[in-house]
Amino acid sequence: MSTQTLQKEADVVVVGAGISGCATAYNLAKRGLNVVVLEKDDIAHEASGRSMAAVGLLGKHHPDEFKLTQASMELWEGLGDELHTDIEYIRGGRLAIANTDEDMPLFKEMVEGAEESGVAIEWLEPDQARARWPFLQGPFIKAVYSPHEGHVNPPKTVHAFARSAQEYGATFHTGCIVKNINVKAGRVSSVSTNRGEIQTGAVVNVAGVWAYRLADRLGVHLPIQLIRVVQGETEPGPRLFDYFLRGPNYGARQTASGTFRITGGYRQLDVYHDLSLHDLRDIRMWAPRLLRYRRDVTLQLNLAILKHDFTALVNRMLRRKSGAPAPVGMEPRKHPKNLERKLARVSKLVPDMKGIKLTRTWSGFVDMTPDFLPIIGPVDKPEGLYLATGFSGHGFALGPIVGKVMADLVIEGQTSMSIHSFRPSRFAEGRVQVPKRLM
Ligand SMILES: Cc1cc2nc3c(=O)[nH]c(=O)nc-3n(C[C@H](O)[C@H](O)[C@H](O)COP(=O)(O)OP(=O)(O)OC[C@H]3O[C@@H](n4cnc5c(N)ncnc54)[C@H](O)[C@@H]3O)c2cc1C
Repeated sequence: MSTQTLQKEADVVVVGAGISGCATAYNLAKRGLNVVVLEKDDIAHEASGRSMAAVGLLGKHHPDEFKLTQASMELWEGLGDELHTDIEYIRGGRLAIANTDEDMPLFKEMVEGAEESGVAIEWLEPDQARARWPFLQGPFIKAVYSPHEGHVNPPKTVHAFARSAQEYGATFHTGCIVKNINVKAGRVSSVSTNRGEIQTGAVVNVAGVWAYRLADRLGVHLPIQLIRVVQGETEPGPRLFDYFLRGPNYGARQTASGTFRITGGYRQLDVYHDLSLHDLRDIRMWAPRLLRYRRDVTLQLNLAILKHDFTALVNRMLRRKSGAPAPVGMEPRKHPKNLERKLARVSKLVPDMKGIKLTRTWSGFVDMTPDFLPIIGPVDKPEGLYLATGFSGHGFALGPIVGKVMADLVIEGQTSMSIHSFRPSRFAEGRVQVPKRLM
């Protein structure tokens, strides 16, 4: 935690030091602005530090998100050099596997967006795939290889952005909770924190899964829901594959150091939702969706979130705006058994991985929007408030381009990327399209 005194003013205050916040600070500082980043825990403490960090195109269902991801992919190519850090970018592609006919509808949907946008995708029969990668021994009926994908080391990448931002003059304060964004005459005027107040005309709210709570305090309603995703890492194994291997109910990638990172599949994610008071918000929008995917989402009670929500409710009833809009130091519940199951499924497909043991497991929250698209852009009111949140499990891949887009919006008031579909106001404008998948 930094103990440095807060400065009295800044051109821009960035709330949250995940990949979105650090990339935004880097782009703003590089373009000469006086930037302060405020982080309630540590750099990369939440989703960005826990991410699978697969950066790629498959699974993006909307043309605008597709283009945004493509623009980000171009940046990933040179990012390590630009930030003078080995971020362990491995451009190994993505191999998606269908085990049964039942997997095929989602499998095809995952590939459609990429093919329609002209990305070269290879459809492979099992014997063609095995001729190339003989270690794929388990049964499957179809594979698709997308070469334009990669993966990186998540904490290294976020810290590299933060370090480079600091080299350009940005200041980071960790252990600093933003409690309120204050407004005068319809414009952002300052932010209040547990360590004092900073005068500023621009705030970039990139507070991850808690961004909606801070926005709420200004009357900006974002219908975000939290899903808890599990992840694990094994001991190092023999060098096998560079791609992100994604089956219907497992996912795996091999890191630069030879360990395997294990996650859920494209059809059966096997994730969790922590029931709490926040479920009462937008219940009509979310309840049918959570029910539809009830086999895939385990509902649980999380006392830490419940306690935080209850305190927030009491503060709200007493019209107190002093409480923290997000819990501090929260460690989401882990599920080692869930990951053992996933590892066993990968090992069935790749018997060379049999006997490799999980050495650690963790969980992280993702910020889901009803249409599965991010929320990126300025809000209508107050002026000077910019949002990038609701990444629905895709935010790591988008990090580098989000940093650029946010800097464009703050400095020029516009961006060359098409972000209309991501506007924060879309939920208030009417019904949004609900995709077929959960994530
Ligand atoms: C297990 C897991 C696997 C994933 N896998 C992938 C993947 O393979 N590919 C992909 O593209 N995406 C993936 N994602 C999603 C991706 O990691 C996120 O979308 C992305 O990291 C979001 O970054 P962010 O900077 O917007 O938010 P975060 O990384 O959550 O950062 C927000 C920061 O804001 C801080 N904060 C919140 N409120 C306040 C406040 N009031 N005051 C001060 N600070 C505050 C938080 O402490 C946090 O550090 C995954 C996510 C998880 C959890």
